[in-house]
Amino acid sequence: MTRVDTIVIGAGIAGVTCARLLADAGQSVVVLEARDRIGGRMHTDRSAGFAVDLGASWIHGIDDSPLWNLVHALGIPTLEFTVGSFQPGGRPMELFDDTGAPMDADSSARWVADVESADRALVDEIARSGPGDTYLDVTERVLDRTGWDPQRIDEVREFFRHRVEEQCGAWIGDLDAHGLDEDAIDGDEVIFPRGYDELPRRIAHGLDIRLSHLVTRVSRSGSGATVTTAQGDFQADHVVVAVPLGVLKAGAVEFEPALPDHVAGPIGRLGMGVFNKVFLQFPDRFWAEDSYVLRALGEPGAHWHSWYDVSAISGRPTLLTFAAGPFGRHVQTMADDEVVADVVLALRRLYGEAVGDPVAHRVTRWGHDPFSRGSYSHIAVGASHRDHDALAGPVDGVLHFAGEATWGEEPATVGGALYSGHRAAERITGRTIDLDDLAKNVLERERRGSD
Ligand SMILES: Cc1cc2nc3c(=O)[nH]c(=O)nc-3n(C[C@H](O)[C@H](O)[C@H](O)COP(=O)(O)OP(=O)(O)OC[C@H]3O[C@@H](n4cnc5c(N)ncnc54)[C@H](O)[C@@H]3O)c2cc1C
Repeated sequence: MTRVDTIVIGAGIAGVTCARLLADAGQSVVVLEARDRIGGRMHTDRSAGFAVDLGASWIHGIDDSPLWNLVHALGIPTLEFTVGSFQPGGRPMELFDDTGAPMDADSSARWVADVESADRALVDEIARSGPGDTYLDVTERVLDRTGWDPQRIDEVREFFRHRVEEQCGAWIGDLDAHGLDEDAIDGDEVIFPRGYDELPRRIAHGLDIRLSHLVTRVSRSGSGATVTTAQGDFQADHVVVAVPLGVLKAGAVEFEPALPDHVAGPIGRLGMGVFNKVFLQFPDRFWAEDSYVLRALGEPGAHWHSWYDVSAISGRPTLLTFAAGPFGRHVQTMADDEVVADVVLALRRLYGEAVGDPVAHRVTRWGHDPFSRGSYSHIAVGASHRDHDALAGPVDGVLHFAGEATWGEEPATVGGALYSGHRAAERITGRTIDLDDLAKNVLERERRGSD
């Protein structure tokens, strides 16, 4: 049986960061990964000859971001792409009203002002909210007080609903009133023309990662833990469980003895949302050259509502749209052809026959992925911010949890997952580890490798 200092379960960004930092600190480490690839929810498909990020693609705000510092230090190229849709007014958008007609500059500005004023009122409403209040409750209270006509209210209501679906993968009535408290974006957002999975791959280089090793059981004792896979058992003093919350909620890994309440409670209370991507490549561009985002307000945007121009990456006219929350779960049950036809129908309501038949597409189904079982975590009604960090453990000084769901300051992100891997490594070594050393060590290893 293989015995090491630490076993890390899951080779997503949390797992490989933790393993890298532990190995750099002199530990023997094995990473057990169920898939035949690393990166988890950072998954770049390059089969078309360019990078298509099927999972994460953005750094949501590069100011004061250790993640950005790391990417920058590693010399990974990025492209500014600030998501105008959820910072209304931030970047050029093409807006369509509830009849599907293009909105002029004045009515677009009015909608942006409405969203911003409702959002400001929401801050106080959330502060006043009590246990059990949902994000739907607080947004409806704010909208009730505006005195606007029903159409104006509908257009802002739709924005709130879709924001929750996309940021949390959840229906607005299932999210706690505080569920978007951490959703602050500082500075520009960027995407990765070479593919975001370059980051976990470079961090992971040189680690002992056993791919296609599905972990089914973790049993701990006073002196360590035994981890069971179909390829045999592994033993270690410490185990870092860096699998997605969806996998833990499904009970796909058995813990012996059972997890204590301080960890099992958060696993039960936090929600795992669904957020899926649909990429469509068109024969010709039918939207304006400088538009970041096309967005349908009101009824025409009930399902498909926002399209992001990601042509800069492929060099071909390509739009990215999202299906999240309950609609995202529904879309997972549809065949690709049905999804594509549905999106094209929605676009033709706005642009007519200028919308050609797509020449290529990609549709994700993260909720059906057995090694993810959802897209990212959120604070469901009944959960609290504290549940995220409580989920990290440790348990009996042996078991640690890492991953986006364990990082309360910035859950549901690559940054949160990375920082949680760093925290687990510090807890295991009992020492402070400078995250800046990660880039230095990666570069040094790459330099030695190319000598
Ligand atoms: C469609 C989509 C878009 C997103 N967009 C963004 C974005 O733009 N910006 C952003 O910051 N974040 C985004 N996110 C979130 C981001 O991808 C995640 O927060 C982050 O990648 C999670 O990393 P992780 O290490 O916690 O988990 P993961 O990357 O999921 O890694 C967990 C690993 O555990 C493995 N595993 C699971 N079960 C087992 C088992 N039983 N045994 C062994 N291994 C197992 C999995 O295969 C996986 O490799 C997005 C996510 C999705 C799905």
